[in-house]
Amino acid sequence: SSPTVFVVTPTYRRPTQMADLTRLSQTLMNLDFIFWLVVEDGETTQLPVAQLLQRSGLPHRYMAAATPARYRNDPDVGRGVFNRRAALDWLRAHEKRGVLYFADDDNSYDIRLFQQIRSTQKVSVFPVGMILEYGISSPIVRQHKVVGFHDAFQALRKFAVDMAGFAVNLEFLYRKPNATIPLLVSYLEDGFLRALGTSLDDLEPLAHDCTEVLVWHTRTQTPFSPNVAHLPPHSNDTNL
Ligand code: UDP
Ligand code: MN
Repeated sequence: SSPTVFVVTPTYRRPTQMADLTRLSQTLMNLDFIFWLVVEDGETTQLPVAQLLQRSGLPHRYMAAATPARYRNDPDVGRGVFNRRAALDWLRAHEKRGVLYFADDDNSYDIRLFQQIRSTQKVSVFPVGMILEYGISSPIVRQHKVVGFHDAFQALRKFAVDMAGFAVNLEFLYRKPNATIPLLVSYLEDGFLRALGTSLDDLEPLAHDCTEVLVWHTRTQTPFSPNVAHLPPHSNDTNL
């Protein structure tokens, strides 16, 4: 069969948000098997984002799930954890079949990646460009099997991957009903994949045995003035 890819995008209000979401939406609009789950890190959803999702014509769900105030400026807590967790809860409650992919709003994606991700049986992995001082984070593949990770940040991680470097079949996800994303910064991916009981053997290398880059960890520079025209005004906020 040809499964749906559930693209989970944590997002938050900032001057570059609409620019980033516009680029990502118009990437996903090239595909007809995407369900886009966008979760705002805030108390409410925002009308401009809701309108962008409507315009995209993509099947989607837009929710708000704020980081609790006590964690908001804690350097030990990863970014976008609580909204990604809310997406996992929603998937568990509403969807049976498909493939999960965490797509941050500011990365750059080749649409071929999403096509390849559809084949994920358990956990697929692939290189991510522009990560730390190696300029890449990639699984190391020998005879079509993953044997390790080329990543500048090893730090006792079993899975030295970026959030954009893996996808999970929902069936595999649902084998561990309590598995979630841990809070500790830099260990979100490793902690999640460990919580799923993943072994190296479960990993399916994509992107031609991880020899191609199909996603880049780009970061949108904040403009000099925060008072840019496309910053959604508060008066337009809604709770959809
Ligand atoms: N994010 C979020 N809340 C925050 C900061 C970030 O939901 O307080 C989202 C952000 O929109 C992105 C993802 O989490 O989709 C990763 O954040 P960011 O791109 O800032 O991290 P980096 O790329 O610098 O590691
Ligand atoms: Mn980013």
